[in-house]
Parts: sequence; structure tokens; C-alpha cells
Amino acid sequence: MANPIDWHARARELRIDGRCVIDGERRAAQNGETFACLSPIDGRSLGEVARGREADVDAAVRAARAAFDDGRWADKAPAQRKRILQKFAEKILAAKEELALLETLDMGKPIRDSLAVDVPSASRCIQWYAEAVDKVYDEIAPTPKSGLALITREPMGVIGAIVPWNYPMLMASWKLGPALAAGNSVVLKPSEKSPLTALRLAELAVEAGLPPGVFNVVPGYGHEAGEALALHMQVDAIGFTGSTRTGRRMLDYAGRSNLKRVYNELGGKSAFVVFDDFADVARAARTVAGSMFYNQGESCNAPSRVFVHERIADQFVATVAAEAPKYQPGDPLDAATAMGALVDDTQLKTVMGYIDAGQSEGARIAAGGKRVRTESGGYFVEPTVFDGVANTMKIAREEIFGPVMSVIRFKDEAEGVAMANDSSYGLQASVWSDNINRAHRVARRLRAGTVHVNQYDEDDITVPFGGYKQSGNGRDKSLHAFDKYTELKTTWIRI
Ligand code: NAD
Repeated sequence: MANPIDWHARARELRIDGRCVIDGERRAAQNGETFACLSPIDGRSLGEVARGREADVDAAVRAARAAFDDGRWADKAPAQRKRILQKFAEKILAAKEELALLETLDMGKPIRDSLAVDVPSASRCIQWYAEAVDKVYDEIAPTPKSGLALITREPMGVIGAIVPWNYPMLMASWKLGPALAAGNSVVLKPSEKSPLTALRLAELAVEAGLPPGVFNVVPGYGHEAGEALALHMQVDAIGFTGSTRTGRRMLDYAGRSNLKRVYNELGGKSAFVVFDDFADVARAARTVAGSMFYNQGESCNAPSRVFVHERIADQFVATVAAEAPKYQPGDPLDAATAMGALVDDTQLKTVMGYIDAGQSEGARIAAGGKRVRTESGGYFVEPTVFDGVANTMKIAREEIFGPVMSVIRFKDEAEGVAMANDSSYGLQASVWSDNINRAHRVARRLRAGTVHVNQYDEDDITVPFGGYKQSGNGRDKSLHAFDKYTELKTTWIRI
């Protein structure tokens, strides 16, 4: 067996390049400003990253526009774009250890997940769209014989992609895959909390043969680089993933500039509804713990509101509370660690504030509740389970984005469904029942973009991902994502 990797030694050797990638080359921010990229594992700086501002965003958008307008990418045959993107996907996989290390150091998730999930999923996403692009046909409308109407898809132009820090590489790939495959140019603004993998992705894309200017990355703060990108008159669409608060701003920026398309993928407060006719309570409890505490609870689709029928609630809570310690936070660079560090000090304070709020509103802590590993200098919180939660409490209404689960009891199906739907969010939901009629009935009533039945963890690039209500208005993944980054053109021909 090969020796296990010494990730600490690799981390010590790491040298990061935090400059922008514009027009196929590395560039410092025009005014030379940088910000320190801090690791949530120990609070130390990993290096300096360019603090992109309006001038840098403008340079990147101009490069992207020029690349689009001269057809160096959009005019390539789909099969040619496919080959270059396939190479890009292969390069991501070939760099998997480096990318996984960057991701873990930058945002705190366990190295085993970065390695087993984030890198391969990002690569597969690019690969999947590469393979799809020469298999999507256009349409001919059913018209009278005197005319022919072609309905064709054309790339939109310059796409501004603005992504969050919780799955930096994966969220970037969900934008890049369909946008690039369709022939667009992209300017990506990663989160200021986790910019490192996006910058490496852009280098790998250039190495794979993507023409300069087609994929640019400008790191920086949201209110600087993010705002400049979303307001830019030469950007045709924004693919945004982040909080609902910032998603509102995206709509405002579009209204104040060129009415660019805005596709928002936003927050969640997903419901997990367990009926007393579901026999394997232990499996439901194990699943909710695994899904809730994965990625330190920093997942948009984390099942943070758990509705349990009152008859099985005590048993369910006891099982979840016994599962929770399996996710006790550890050193993210240790390959055995199942839960890592929260992304930064601000997030730590937010999460601890919600744990205090839950207690003061009268909910009972059944597991966890404390900050741990303080001596490391990092931001670690125990997997936490609240019992006795009312759906009106702050911890049940607001997205916490940390390892905190609320268990809410219900007495019958109507009440369970009504409470599950009583949320401003609608990203995901699940129903657990051995009664096939009830399972289908409830799945249809739950107002969410994805509903799981008797499971929560299946996911794949082949299916759309997005939310109802204030969880957003777009869909990432699947062939439907092409809709976001293409214009439909009708061409009437007289014959
Ligand atoms: P955020 O809204 O604070 O930031 C997201 C991105 O927007 C970052 O790049 C940030 O720099 C930028 N930004 C922030 N303020 C801006 C402004 N005023 N103008 C322009 N850009 C700005 O979100 P976050 O804290 O990075 O991410 C967590 C959120 O993302 C959670 O709500 C989570 O549910 C959501 N999320 C949703 C999905 C999904 O697919 N629906 C997936 C992952 C995360």
C-alpha cells in the first residue's frame, strides 16, 4: 500500500499565487492592493491575494468580450470545444491533490472530502458538459409549408459568475461547465474567503488549450469586485450562487445597469419530514446526521429543519444525538476527520449566536452546542442537535449555515406538511414513509426544487439543482443549465 500523504508537510511547502487571471495571464491588481488569505484551520495567512476592483473587473470583462466577439471560442465546432473542455477536466483530476489541499486550507473542510468529492465532482461537471455539447440539437418549428422557422441556441456572450465559499470549486464548475460548453466567455469572482482553487482552475483551463480571455478570474470583495462585475454594461448574464441577501442585490444591479439576466441560486432551510410509518428510524436518523453535518453544516441544502412524528420523536432524537459525536470536528488535514472548521471567525460568531438564541427561546440541546479545539486557533463547533424546537423560533426560520439541526415534532400529515412549507426558502426537502401513497402525496406537496423520498444523499450532475421561493430562480446542473447561458433565436425563412 502507498504511504499515506503527509498533508501538513505538503501544506508547509505550498506557495500560492493570488494574482488575477486575465486574458490568459497572471496579473496583479492594477493598484497593487492585496488581502491576506486566512486559513480557518489555524487562523494563519496562506498568502496574499489580489484585491480586484472596478478597473480589474473591467479589464477582465473587456478580455472576455474581445474573446467572444472574435469567435475564438464561440465559433469553434462543438466537437472542438468538447475536446478542450475534456482536457480541462482531465487536468483537474490530475491536479487533485494540489486542488484538494488548497480547498481544505482555504475553507476548512476535511481533506478526505475535498479529495473524494469536491475535486472529482468539479472535474465530472466539466466533463459532462463537454460530452453534452455536441449532442444537443436545435429545433424546427411546425409551420405552414411556405415558411421554415429555425429555433437555434446561441451563446449569450460574457457571463459573470459570482460564487460562495462553501463549495468553491464545485460552485465554480457548475457555472463554468454549461457556460463554456455553450460558447460563452466567463469572468469568475470567487468568494474573498476562498479564492485559491478558482485561480488554479483558470490556469489549468489555459494549459488545456482554452483560448486566452475565455475564462478569467478576478478575486476580491463582494462590494468591490462583485458589485463591479454585476453592474458592468458588457456582462450579459450573472450566474450567482450565495446568500438570499446578496441575491436581492444582484437583481438591483441588473436593474441599475443593462437588465442583464440574473440567475440566483440562494440559501435554504430544508425540511426533512419523518413519519411514524417509516420503520427504519435509525437509518433516517443516520442519514439526517450525515447530511446535516457534512461540510460543517455549511451546505445550502443541509436538512436543518427535521420534522418528526411525535410518536417516534424520542427514539429519533436519541439516535441522532448518538450519531452526532461521530462528526466531532478534527484536524481537517487528517485523513480520518469527518468534520472540519467553519470558514472564519465571523461564521463562528454567527453560529454560536444561533446556538445561544435557540437556548434562550427555550429549545433543548440534545447534542453538542460548544466551540472546540480553540487551542488550534481555528473555528470548530460541535455537531449540535436541538430538540423541542418550534417552527417559529429563529433557529427554525433563519439559515444558520453551521452544524446546527432543529428537531420539530408534528402530530399528523397535514401539520407536518404545513410546517415544512412554512418557510421563505424552498431549496430541498425530504419525506420518509413506508406508505407509498403518502410518500408520493407529500413529495408533491412539498414546495422545493428537489424532494427526496426515503433518502437524502443521492445527487448527480444529470439532475437540476435549484430552489423555489427565496432559494432562487435558476437551476444549475443537467441540460437545463444550458438555458441560462444561451439565447433562443428564431429564424424565419420564406421557401
Ligand atoms: P454571500 O452572498 O455573502 O457571497 C456570495 C458571493 O457574492 C461572494 O463571492 C461574495 O464576495 C459576493 N458578494 C457579497 N456581497 C456582494 C455585493 N454586495 N455585491 C456583489 N457581490 C457580492 O454568500 P456566502 O456567505 O459566500 O455563501 C453562503 C450562501 O450561499 C448561503 O446562503 C448558501 O445557502 C448559499 N448557497 C447556495 C447554493 C445553491 O445552489 N442554492 C449553493 C451553495 C451556497
